[in-house]
Amino acid sequence: MSDRPRSPASIPLRRCVVCRQSAPKSTLLRAVRRPDRSVSLSPSADGRGAYIHIREACLTAAATEPRQLERALRIQLPEALLADLQERTAQIANAIA
Ligand SMILES: [Zn+2]
Repeated sequence: MSDRPRSPASIPLRRCVVCRQSAPKSTLLRAVRRPDRSVSLSPSADGRGAYIHIREACLTAAATEPRQLERALRIQLPEALLADLQERTAQIANAIA
């Protein structure tokens, strides 16, 4: 019989490509390189994925200095994706304000 509490290690962790810190998957935004070389923000799409914290500092860095994300995905990010990231950053900033 075991009364051990559920280990926190069972929570899937992913590393943010901007600040390099690991965090529970649910607190990160996933960018995915699709087979057609587009990039979308999706938690479940197939393809090479990279994670970014859903917080202002990391999203801003990803939108304005996308090199780390581009290196992780091995693709140049489309302008539309950078605009999407900036949009999400603005939403978070508004939610906090
Ligand atoms: Zn981060």
